[in-house]
Amino acid sequence: MPVPKQKKGRGAVHTRRSANMKIDAPARSVCPRCGAVKLPHHVCGNCGFYKDREVIVTE
Ligand SMILES: [Zn+2]
Repeated sequence: MPVPKQKKGRGAVHTRRSANMKIDAPARSVCPRCGAVKLPHHVCGNCGFYKDREVIVTE
C-alpha cells in the first residue's frame, strides 16, 4: 500500500480541512401558519401543524 513520502505540514492540513470539513448551518424554513422558524419537513414546534393538519395538540 502506498504511503505518503512526507508528513503534511500544519498549513497544508489546515488548508485541506478548511476546504473539505466545512459544516453548513442547519436548514430552516418558516412555518406558513404561524411564521415561526422550523426545520423543513418537520412539524412546527410552535403551533404543532404540518401540512395544514394539527399533528401535536398545543394550547
Ligand atoms: Zn407553526
